[in-house]
Amino acid sequence: MSIRVHPCFNPLVKIITHSRCTEYYTHGHPERPARISGTARRLSEQTEIELNWTQASRASDASILRAHSPEHIARLHISCDFDSDTPHHDGIEEHARASAGAALDALKFARAGETVFSLMRPPGHHATRDEAMGFCYLSNIAIATLEALATGTKRVAVFDFDVHHGNGTEAILINQPGAAFFSIHQYPCYPGTGESNVGNNCFNYPVAPHTPRESYRNTLSQALDDLKRFKPELVAVSAGFDAYAHDPIAQETLEAEDFHWLGGELRKVGVPMFSLLEGGYSDDLPQLIMAYLKGVIGK
Ligand SMILES: [Zn+2]
Repeated sequence: MSIRVHPCFNPLVKIITHSRCTEYYTHGHPERPARISGTARRLSEQTEIELNWTQASRASDASILRAHSPEHIARLHISCDFDSDTPHHDGIEEHARASAGAALDALKFARAGETVFSLMRPPGHHATRDEAMGFCYLSNIAIATLEALATGTKRVAVFDFDVHHGNGTEAILINQPGAAFFSIHQYPCYPGTGESNVGNNCFNYPVAPHTPRESYRNTLSQALDDLKRFKPELVAVSAGFDAYAHDPIAQETLEAEDFHWLGGELRKVGVPMFSLLEGGYSDDLPQLIMAYLKGVIGK
């Protein structure tokens, strides 16, 4: 007798990455190549999780244009910084297309029943339809969510646990039929939005700076309960690890075991899911991602 394994319980983790995502940087910027190279090294050296590495695809205009304006894509060619946090780099359009392509790959693998994590930069959740900001150039998660909705998935929940509000995702997905957005974040904090719910599908869970981790976990649980009530067919996770107690750019309190717990709770939702790296600027990022992935596979 064969036993059917639920897709979300697949213990093999597919990691999507690309060598080009470590090829650009600004000296002293927290969003740096070592976030990816250090995590890739840590994952390669460990034996607790069985991994399958794959190279990110390049996102097409057709997919990107569901979330961004043509003017925004054109702006990525212009060699001028977007804001003080978000420099222009040579080839940034191709770096951003690879990160968005990885999100689309992650969608495809999740639909095929695989457990998948996109280990890419740049992150995406602050990029709006017309603006690059907050280290983000294209909204990877919104691009993948809109692709899912355009190709047969009826209900997609985006769960964003990065410590910063996913203002770009919210701005793109607000009132989008079939999509719901759940963001748990420090408030007040960058980018200054996310104090309350907006539209008919964007649910915000602001957490005060220095909130004890038990209380932070309660808020994450509340958001997960609300997500389950939405009855998604697919969960897209903006996985940011900057609510970590030792993150240099936020003031929250989570530990590696909280990210492990969160991975397990997301797994228990019981529908296909994929996770995309957003923030997380501590040197401990590799171990936080390891903890999360172990949670996701129920280990
Ligand atoms: Zn962040």
